[in-house]
Amino acid sequence: MNDRLYYDDAFLRNFNARVVDIREASRTEGVSLWQIALDRTAFYPASGGQPSDTGILTATSRTGAVLEVPIESVEEDEAGNVWHFTRKPLTTGTEVHGSIDWPRRLDHIQQHSGQHLLSAVFSRELEAQTVSFHLGPATSTIDLTTGPVAHHSLERIERIANEIIAEDRPVIVRTVTREEAEKLLSSGDLRKLPEREGTIRLIEIADYDLNACGGTHVRSTGQIGSLLLRSPERVSRGLRVEFVCGQRAVAAARHDFTLLGRAATALSIGRDDIPAAIERLQSEVKSSTKDRQRLREDLATYHATRLAVEEMIKDNLRLVRRTFTDRDREYVRLLASRVCATVPRTVAVFIATEGEPARIFIACSHDIDLNCGDFLRASLAAHGLRGGGSPDLAQGDLPRDKADEIATGISASLRSLLSRPHIEDD
Ligand SMILES: [Zn+2]
Repeated sequence: MNDRLYYDDAFLRNFNARVVDIREASRTEGVSLWQIALDRTAFYPASGGQPSDTGILTATSRTGAVLEVPIESVEEDEAGNVWHFTRKPLTTGTEVHGSIDWPRRLDHIQQHSGQHLLSAVFSRELEAQTVSFHLGPATSTIDLTTGPVAHHSLERIERIANEIIAEDRPVIVRTVTREEAEKLLSSGDLRKLPEREGTIRLIEIADYDLNACGGTHVRSTGQIGSLLLRSPERVSRGLRVEFVCGQRAVAAARHDFTLLGRAATALSIGRDDIPAAIERLQSEVKSSTKDRQRLREDLATYHATRLAVEEMIKDNLRLVRRTFTDRDREYVRLLASRVCATVPRTVAVFIATEGEPARIFIACSHDIDLNCGDFLRASLAAHGLRGGGSPDLAQGDLPRDKADEIATGISASLRSLLSRPHIEDD
């Protein structure tokens, strides 16, 4: 077992140690990943929701040559040994100087202590217990045993947490026996106790929280800096709350501020006026959409009248065939219906070629004995295409380069099907 220096001092950044074991962990494309054990280490292995440290081991040879070994990750095995993973091997017995990536560690300390504090506030104020903690690269989350929490309650939780940060309460680390820990749990002093034998490491936020944990923590709550709650989210076992502490809180606030600034510039208004401006824009869009729809319908009515007048009745049938290259399908569909509603004995064969595939619409007036849906389905099936619709209006997709040819064929069969040559009475 290696001596874990971070248990006693979470702020220890540099240390001296000796390599006691090295193994090849894996090999990909000829490159080995090595795992190194030291007799003592300040590197924190990933556990309890806190990611591992990274950093550098430095070895100096007898000739004075310096070898730097970057540590990519640190893990703990089931026997409790800490392994440092690297691409560069070292020999057993080598004396090394270890340096952990301090900004990364400090960030983890702030998020992890912030989590203890936040979990304690939720437990005290809402009796919501924390069931899991995840420290991510940008934000962290805790999962709580609670239903939805009102926005103002979350604001209150955030305020209390920040008050305790400002009070700069001492954070004390101590170890107790399992029996002592169980006593503290049953008296309600200890928030949670893991299923683990041996001594238990306790983290106390003075007069506020006591919890079992093997992680690295601040010396006093002031070092957490600040705590900002982000959006809560419903999850199967309760509520997931996202939060950021320390520099992350400042970075998140800065990010939001920049976004708001860009939105305000785009709208040429002040930041505080953004919500009202969005509401106004939404209502304008709604009324514009309504106006546009009304105008399209009016236009389709006039357009239909013009098309009906342009096309003469021949053999008791007005067959209106048109291709529209610059009208959207919805308008062409509307126009087909309107033409057939305007004048009797009318069939419309319209093609909209604005998109690929093109679309054909067939409509007929009520006095025409034709089921448009059935007719179009059968006509397109002959070309291996699909279409259909109601007796009054049908549509189907066509390849654009075949649209004209198919429409000509369909028009010809409609004419032969529906024409009634005029027979003079005697
Ligand atoms: Zn913890």
